[in-house]
Amino acid sequence: MIYLVEHFYSIQGEGRYTGTPSLFFRFGTCNLKCEGFACSEIAPDGVEVVGCDTVYAVNKEHFSHMWSKITRSQELLNVLDLYELPQKSVDIVLTGGEPLLYANDEIFVEFLEELHARGHRICFETNGTVAVDFERFEIYKECIFALSVKLSNSEEPYKKRVRDDVINSIASYAKDAFFKFSVDAESIDLGLEDEIFDITSHAPNADIFCMPLGGDKKTVEANTPMLVEFCKAKGYNFSDRLHIRIWDANKGV
Ligand code: SF4
Repeated sequence: MIYLVEHFYSIQGEGRYTGTPSLFFRFGTCNLKCEGFACSEIAPDGVEVVGCDTVYAVNKEHFSHMWSKITRSQELLNVLDLYELPQKSVDIVLTGGEPLLYANDEIFVEFLEELHARGHRICFETNGTVAVDFERFEIYKECIFALSVKLSNSEEPYKKRVRDDVINSIASYAKDAFFKFSVDAESIDLGLEDEIFDITSHAPNADIFCMPLGGDKKTVEANTPMLVEFCKAKGYNFSDRLHIRIWDANKGV
């Protein structure tokens, strides 16, 4: 069963395609919790749920009112008709939660194949821990993957958040793949460089983007200056989080 949490037409706020008009599909469920990011949201039942900045797409127990069941690929394709998209095919961004948890689902694969047939560039935002069967589903070779592999600041155990086989496979078979790390000022002094070196060694040709950690504008801005200096020193690409800088913590824009 596929769960869609939200969709919105906006610009890509992070990574290689920052600024590109994109239609986002946010799918529900994740195999990690990333409570170290310490973002929180009050659920309708009054419970404060701690996790990442999209905790509502991770925690079904408290945010089920936002999760819609998808039973046919056409339901996903119908979303495209809800927006006045320009004639030129816009990017389709599949995010979550962890969208690749649906990678083997027939409905999901059908959706991707139709998007590709219509000329859309398909970009996944993934935590890089879920294997993709590139041989069985050729469509994934046409997709782009932003590998947002989690660092120790996520407080997830290393074995759970770093899957060298998955990283290597995605970087080897996908149309393109690049790393995208969320970095806070504090972690820069705590061995972050070694962590990034370790993770990226599994896909040495993939570009590296570092973006300031935070689910709101204030936190993102506070983490920016040191991160810019870090990127300059290490030769990494700085990636803004444009959507947060423009719209702050508002969802679905
Ligand atoms: S992997 Fe991504 S979506 Fe899942 S809990 Fe961590 S930050 Fe949130």
